[in-house]
Amino acid sequence: MGVPFDSVTMDEALDRALELISEPGCALCVTPNAEIVYEAMEDPALREDLSSAELVLPDGAGVVLAAKILGTPVKEKVAGIEFGTRLMEHLAGTEKTFYFLGGKPGVAEQAAEKMKARFPGLRICGARDGYFSEDGPVIDGINRVRPDVLFVCLGAPKQERFMVRNRQALQASFAVGLGGSLDGFAGNVKRAPRWMIRCNLEWLYRLIKEPWRIGRMMRLPKFMLRVLARRMRG
Ligand code: UDP
Repeated sequence: MGVPFDSVTMDEALDRALELISEPGCALCVTPNAEIVYEAMEDPALREDLSSAELVLPDGAGVVLAAKILGTPVKEKVAGIEFGTRLMEHLAGTEKTFYFLGGKPGVAEQAAEKMKARFPGLRICGARDGYFSEDGPVIDGINRVRPDVLFVCLGAPKQERFMVRNRQALQASFAVGLGGSLDGFAGNVKRAPRWMIRCNLEWLYRLIKEPWRIGRMMRLPKFMLRVLARRMRG
């Protein structure tokens, strides 16, 4: 549907991330769900932004199902929030540093405290909210501490646009767009219960908790219809 995903397991995604962190330049990682792929189908610039990332992870059951229907299956769902968590777990106790960007004022700092308590030895070198009008001062703040890993949590597609347009200026090794994950790390928004995640019903949990998402979520059935139409055309 115009967005090339990496077919990787969670462990393979982590290995790839560690490689990218050690390479020069700022590598980008995006975690599109079906809603974003649907948006990208109507927006060539967004499609290009997503395709330019070194790592494109299938965040959500919709993307995994679509890939299967289209005959180009991906190994498994690699949810952004889980990927970010595993990366912190893995790098806690090493020299590698993290910067949290995004969320309402105070959320990034709160998330940093919670994550430092959860993963002893985790080095978080900076945090700031995601409500700003100019990129310049934000980039300056990040470049002052030069993080290895930058979590960009401005919601999609804002975060993808931010990462792509600032890629050259950013002095970070690995920037990853993680949507509302800082709210999750801060403990403000809970993830669905395990059984719902296992049954691919996380989207339903979010809809029940945040019913105003219905407009955005209606893109999911529209996306699946486009996928089926594409498949039927062969
Ligand atoms: N956000 C932000 N700056 C903005 C708009 C949104 O930092 O200008 C944050 C918002 O506070 C929330 C996250 O981006 O923490 C978006 O979360 P949401 O769950 O809507 O994103 P999704 O993962 O669905 O893309």
